[in-house]
Amino acid sequence: SIAEVEDSEDQLEPRAPIVTVMGHVDHGKTSLLDYIREENVIAGESGGITQHIGAYGVQLKDGQKITFLDTPGHEAFTAMRARGAQVTDLAIIVIAADDDVMPQTKEAISHAQAAGVPIVFAINKVDREVANPEKIKESLANMNLLVEDWGGKIQSQDLSAKTGQGVPELLEKVLLEAELLDLKANPDKPATGTVVEAFLDKGRGYVSTILVQAGTLKVGDYVLAGRTHGKVKAMQDERGHDVEAAGPATPVSILGLDGAPQAGDKFHVFEDEREAKSIAARRTQLQREQSVRTQKT
Ligand code: GDP
Repeated sequence: SIAEVEDSEDQLEPRAPIVTVMGHVDHGKTSLLDYIREENVIAGESGGITQHIGAYGVQLKDGQKITFLDTPGHEAFTAMRARGAQVTDLAIIVIAADDDVMPQTKEAISHAQAAGVPIVFAINKVDREVANPEKIKESLANMNLLVEDWGGKIQSQDLSAKTGQGVPELLEKVLLEAELLDLKANPDKPATGTVVEAFLDKGRGYVSTILVQAGTLKVGDYVLAGRTHGKVKAMQDERGHDVEAAGPATPVSILGLDGAPQAGDKFHVFEDEREAKSIAARRTQLQREQSVRTQKT
């Protein structure tokens, strides 16, 4: 069943932090995520990240890992939050140093604060002559957000997503902040997690990117995700490589669900296929009744 059993301390193992990048349009979110994706290839792997699956993991030179949620316009993050799925451990909020703290920046800050997610500021575009990172930090201070340079506790890093200057330092600060969270999960149980995105591929059927949050997902597992269900036929990582198993904080795209679950849907592995099917059917029925009711009102 879906009921979760509490893990004991000795079952828990450290896991990678799950990080979202947010900020005002054009302040450099995409550029920063692209730079990180291109520069940080899993140690020993040839070839970079080839698939856009909405999330990816990077491994730094010292072996530490970070999982990035990389969803266009961060709709998924908003959708996930709206549906009560708390996935993100940390938020990087990008602010362009040639601009100011803008409405969407403020919105991102309140989203993160409401979710209780620590913030690391990325003060971007410092390669530009007109950049004034101190002005940004002053604006933040006026909002009661004191960064470390200003005697506060919030981490911030001046950087350029274009030249890469400051990006390694940003990732170090993210890991430092993550350490304080003492993130752990039990890898030795049936997987649970959250759907990041899903789409219908002409040749392969429904492809769903899911983020395993606890346990280990294996090929052959029977999964219930929102109103969809099915046996995992194949799993791929962000490099397009087939994988047999995925542990906590790992994003994978899976094949085998009978539909496209929604971003933010929880998924669970079931030992009993019939139980998963009957819950999926009940959810579909409820959804139908609900949409009939909405049409009537
Ligand atoms: P997003 O809307 O937040 O995803 O912003 P983008 O990553 O698309 O960046 C918006 C624009 O700013 C693009 O033209 C980028 O090339 C440019 N840009 C982003 N980061 C930097 C930077 O560090 N330095 C400079 N000079 N330009 C940047």
